[in-house]
Amino acid sequence: MADPNDTRDTGPRAGSPLWAYLATVITIGFSTLVLAQWWISPSEMADLAHSPLFWMLAVLVVLGDLRPVLLSSSVTVGGTYPSAMFTFAALLHYGLPVAVLMQAVGMIVNSAVTRKAWHRVMFNIAQTTLACSAAGVVLALIRGGPAPDASWVPRGPDLLAIGLAGVAYFVVRGLLVSGAVALHERRSISRVIRTTIGHQSLVYAGLLGMSPLVVVVMNHSPALVPLFIAPLAAVYITATMSLRRDHQATHDVLTGLPNRKMLVFSTQEALAEARTGERVGLLLLDLDRFKEVNDTLGHPVGDRLLQIVAHRLTHSVRPGDVVARLGGDEFAVLLPSVRDDGAAREVAARLRVALTQPVRLEGMAFDLDASVGIALHPDHAPDFELLMQRADVAMYLAKEGRTGVEIYVADKDRNSPERLNLIGDLRRAIDRSELRLHYQPKFDLASGQVRGVEALLRWRHPERGMISPGEFVPMAEQSYLMRHLTQYVIDAALEQTAHWWHTGLHEQVSVNISARDLLDSALPDRLEAGLAQYRLPPKAIQLEVTERILMTDQAYTADAVRALTSLGVPLALDDFGTGYSSLVRLQRLPVSEVKIDSSFVRRIGESKDDERIVRSIVDLVRSLGLRSVAEGVESADVATRLTRMGCDLAQGWLFAEPMSAADATAWLRKHRAPATPGFYLLSSAEVLDSQRA
Ligand code: C2E
Ligand code: MG
Ligand code: MG
Repeated sequence: MADPNDTRDTGPRAGSPLWAYLATVITIGFSTLVLAQWWISPSEMADLAHSPLFWMLAVLVVLGDLRPVLLSSSVTVGGTYPSAMFTFAALLHYGLPVAVLMQAVGMIVNSAVTRKAWHRVMFNIAQTTLACSAAGVVLALIRGGPAPDASWVPRGPDLLAIGLAGVAYFVVRGLLVSGAVALHERRSISRVIRTTIGHQSLVYAGLLGMSPLVVVVMNHSPALVPLFIAPLAAVYITATMSLRRDHQATHDVLTGLPNRKMLVFSTQEALAEARTGERVGLLLLDLDRFKEVNDTLGHPVGDRLLQIVAHRLTHSVRPGDVVARLGGDEFAVLLPSVRDDGAAREVAARLRVALTQPVRLEGMAFDLDASVGIALHPDHAPDFELLMQRADVAMYLAKEGRTGVEIYVADKDRNSPERLNLIGDLRRAIDRSELRLHYQPKFDLASGQVRGVEALLRWRHPERGMISPGEFVPMAEQSYLMRHLTQYVIDAALEQTAHWWHTGLHEQVSVNISARDLLDSALPDRLEAGLAQYRLPPKAIQLEVTERILMTDQAYTADAVRALTSLGVPLALDDFGTGYSSLVRLQRLPVSEVKIDSSFVRRIGESKDDERIVRSIVDLVRSLGLRSVAEGVESADVATRLTRMGCDLAQGWLFAEPMSAADATAWLRKHRAPATPGFYLLSSAEVLDSQRA
């Protein structure tokens, strides 16, 4: 894979504001450089050429230019180089002309080694020349005397002059570089300065503060000058380490792209800076066929593919746009300034074109594609959270409708402001652990034995009290939150299951997942990793998916379901009877359990129709060799009828309500009792009461 820095470094377009800016700085800088050389007489030049001290300093400047201490956020212009310490020393010791000459030569030699783009080298020479000149002028002014070429041995009282010269050097350099960064990334210069000044000023204070000491040593025992490499290395290493730590916290390890945290930060910055008439665009991008690659060729290949995707995406956007990886195969692109939705669509189309170029890996060619959802500020949302949420709604539509790109349209969004508020609350609820799983047992109708429990989500809202999943799960399903919610549910359920299994309660725990989770290609892997982590067999859990998934995109759900069942985790079809699915479809899905929806079950005592429906479902399920479970059993009469029909299992308030983990544990221990044959046919008030206790 190519080095991401190579191709971006083609230089600014001729005539662009950045180009004009660089050209101006370079012209003024080089004029100053040439002009300064007037002050060096040929005899002086000859003296210098024979001075080992001069060469030693020159070598240190070249070395100090090899690697920056701090990388500037932009690749067009360099970073903070340790050579500043020696250049500044040269300025104090030899005067301005020699200092700028030495710096220029150092940079040219260095660029030959590191092969930097010419416009960067020229700009860096120009800006350091100008910074040195500013410092030289300040020195001359304060000392009130000699021209800037005069060499000088600094003494105590000169500290003020040196300090101010250092400030001048720093300010000029900082302004010139920030100007270039701002133009390159189309950000305001004040923002650029604000984000970089902290680190930069510390490093420059360290580097320039050492310069007078270098001069003093040069004058007294030149052989000791190389000793300065040690403290320099210390500054270098400390700065690099702290920068790396910052980088790790805000970037994705695999691809090196900014992570979600960084995206939040950059988006907020872009929103604060947004000018009227301009828009901030957020694009959410989800790869369409990534799962297949990961499954068939394994994670190393999947990882390489993600790296390639990251590389292609970053090279399909303009400087200043931010490509971030949110996890799995989900990426986001921030456009800090975009004209209108047409322009945003163009970017989305460009991103998809970049991805669809076939990828060759391990001797195979892959076609990738992605679904992109777009949301714009201020048209669609005022803040990051909502922007993300709306891009996500659009992305979901693009994926569902297979249209590739969708821009947010309020009409297609089923979220009202209240629901959105609740989504915000829910996001915090996940972080603040306001969510809990409750557990409801399932009973074998023939024997009365417990046959597993279903995990049901509960949300204790700080103000609104208990909110039932029926209220917030469908809402979460329409947003990217579903992923986090399911992740929480799976983690919590696995932890509880492990606790039970490792203390002798071998109950299968059923976990509800939503149709949307089937679009999440990372789910099977997470599940597999979770089972391994808790040392659980796949049969320790079961996944419940609603029957309604059978009515949507068949091929897609079939793939997703297959991936899940290939782990060996059994599958149950939930809410059966509400989705009008055909027998053929049911037969094609690898399910082992069918849960009959409570709306039919509850009425079997009252309505002959409902009784017939339930009976035919039970028969159908048995004929397919599957297990039937009746949901919402509230009365002994219903339980008896179900038993007579041959329904296998039942779940409902009659037996047990959903209980907290602690209550469920106590309950399960108590009901590990031996089986009672013909449980409900023989049902008497005592048996029931004893079961309920
Ligand atoms: P479901 O999976 O069909 O769950 C059965 C629902 O019936 C549960 O409602 C349960 O508390 C309730 N129930 C149990 N016994 C009786 C009874 O005798 N009578 C009546 N009237 N109801 C009974 P709950 O907990 O409010 O959950 C509602 C739905 O929310 C669930 O339906 C499921 O689709 C969804 N859900 C719950 N937890 C999760 C979760 O962790 N993830 C996902 N994706 N969905 C969940
Ligand atoms: Mg369920
Ligand atoms: Mg159900």
